[in-house]
Amino acid sequence: MLLGLLRQVEERLPLLDAPDLPWTLAGRVHDAEYLRRWRAGEVTRAEERAMGFAWTPGIVARGLGSSGATLAATRDALAGGLGLNLGGGTHHAYAGHAEGFSFLNDVAISARWLLDHAHARRILILDLDVHQGNGTASLFAGESRVLTVSVHAARNYPFDKETSGLDVNLPDGTGDAEYLAALDTRVAPVVAAFRPDFVYYLAGADVLAGDQLGRLALSLDGVRARDERVFRWAARARLPLVMVTAGGYHREPEQLVRARLGTVEAALAAYVR
Ligand SMILES: [Zn+2]
Repeated sequence: MLLGLLRQVEERLPLLDAPDLPWTLAGRVHDAEYLRRWRAGEVTRAEERAMGFAWTPGIVARGLGSSGATLAATRDALAGGLGLNLGGGTHHAYAGHAEGFSFLNDVAISARWLLDHAHARRILILDLDVHQGNGTASLFAGESRVLTVSVHAARNYPFDKETSGLDVNLPDGTGDAEYLAALDTRVAPVVAAFRPDFVYYLAGADVLAGDQLGRLALSLDGVRARDERVFRWAARARLPLVMVTAGGYHREPEQLVRARLGTVEAALAAYVR
């Protein structure tokens, strides 16, 4: 069943490899000494614990690979409106430290690249992963050209939260109706007032009921409705959009794959006619 679902995605959307992110672009967001140490494997046990993985060359390769894919998706969005990365969204990475499975902040790096090259002037980072985008909020604090929006479970990690442009803290067990109402009444007006010209969407599937690291209780239909709201709004406004998958730790892998497939379908339905 799982393989069948994956094949459905591949039939409709050929999967392409992206080049690794160049270190110089990571250096526009992350501290030079931090990058040097991680590149060389000079990482302490405490840093490994905060990250959630022991250091290996593979951890570094994963960071460069998924960040390179977000950059490639950014180029796709500039060229054709939509870019998808079936990975990325490592939003807990700060300028000088790694945590929460996040070593490089891929979305922040690509957003900085857009600003540096004047490809965008007002960037929305819409983070609907169940965990707060603390690294991203910290990296763009005081940057008026980037609006960080995070909708997350209030009592979930990270326990010391940063201040995003807009934070929506939801109680444990929030279901479809309350979640979608929060998007409509709290997020939509702030986003409309900001008038973005480029959008990053962190479509975390860890909002699903049954996720091992989430505390919310959305159904698959609720996640689909969330995704459709985002993609339809952005497509109608003719905004280039990059989707990254961010978190998803469901007990049943099939549920996670179904959620991801729904996200891709909603993106194609809105952007590809
Ligand atoms: Zn998450």
